[in-house]
Amino acid sequence: MDKSPIGLPKNSKKKPRVAQEATITAKTSISEHMIRLSFHAKALIGKEFPFSDHYVKLLFIPQGAPYSIPFNLADIQQNYPPEQQPIKRTYTLRNIDPGTGNFDIDFVSHGDIGLAGPWAARAQVGEKIMFLGPGGKWKPEEKYPHFIFAGDEAAAPAIIESLQALPQSSTAEVFLEIAHDNAHIPVPENHNITYHWVPRQGAVHGTQLMQAVRHADYDWSVSTSWFVHGVAEMIKDIRRFLFVEHNVSPADVSISGYWRLGMTEDQWQASKGEFNRSIEAEENALKK
Ligand SMILES: Cc1cc2nc3c(=O)[nH]c(=O)nc-3n(C[C@H](O)[C@H](O)[C@H](O)COP(=O)(O)OP(=O)(O)OC[C@H]3O[C@@H](n4cnc5c(N)ncnc54)[C@H](O)[C@@H]3O)c2cc1C
Repeated sequence: MDKSPIGLPKNSKKKPRVAQEATITAKTSISEHMIRLSFHAKALIGKEFPFSDHYVKLLFIPQGAPYSIPFNLADIQQNYPPEQQPIKRTYTLRNIDPGTGNFDIDFVSHGDIGLAGPWAARAQVGEKIMFLGPGGKWKPEEKYPHFIFAGDEAAAPAIIESLQALPQSSTAEVFLEIAHDNAHIPVPENHNITYHWVPRQGAVHGTQLMQAVRHADYDWSVSTSWFVHGVAEMIKDIRRFLFVEHNVSPADVSISGYWRLGMTEDQWQASKGEFNRSIEAEENALKK
């Protein structure tokens, strides 16, 4: 196995980031609102994948930029203006096979607005894309007898990968928000896993999920690991539920906004730090 570290360097000034190339090998519809693209990337052969939430930054070339795939990212960063830099979109890797370099990405099909969603809908077998990563940081730890997962469709790939890596003796409860009752996503069936499907039925993203998570029965005495990701507004509410109302230790929780209503990923990533600081300040004020 190649022991080279997996991860996205935080400071691009310290280490030039090398973008890798992936080729689409298959395209399938896995639910009414999810498109699976299968990829082959030579760069992933022999790598180790210790986590269940591995993700990449897909790199989209802005319209009119005078370069094409394959490109050298360091060269682009040095020689091209900001508006011609590749646009990043973050996606979870599914079904990674380090033996062949094959993996899948399940894209939420959220309409014509945006870059990655509409690209996935149009993409054809044989097409190439470049990416940074993979990064990753979470996996279900053996020490927990119980796990609670909550997320919308964007977080479903990481949740499903994590369910596939669940310790044998652990149980899991899963809250998955989907558009409506006929938009179920294929999930692993196992007697240790209980699913709560949460149809939006036209409600604002995340609002039904918040209610479902808030009103479920929990045994707070059982050591539980929480994995909660998806639309930012829902994250804010569930953080308060866990950290303020139930005094859950942050060490037992992986929680973050994967996207935000009305913002592109660039806008969300640029404002995420401030968003997180402000909700932490609110939580601290409420705890006093
Ligand atoms: C670690 C991580 C892993 C992720 N893994 C996945 C994954 O496996 N699959 C996946 O589909 N997404 C995943 N996401 C979320 C994805 O990066 C965002 O949804 C991203 O904004 C999509 O880019 P876009 O170009 O399609 O839309 P953007 O150009 O970023 O946004 C355009 C508009 O679409 C809206 N929008 C964005 N995402 C959604 C959505 N899911 N539903 C409804 N409206 C939306 C935005 O609010 C905005 O108004 C992940 C995010 C992170 C941080």
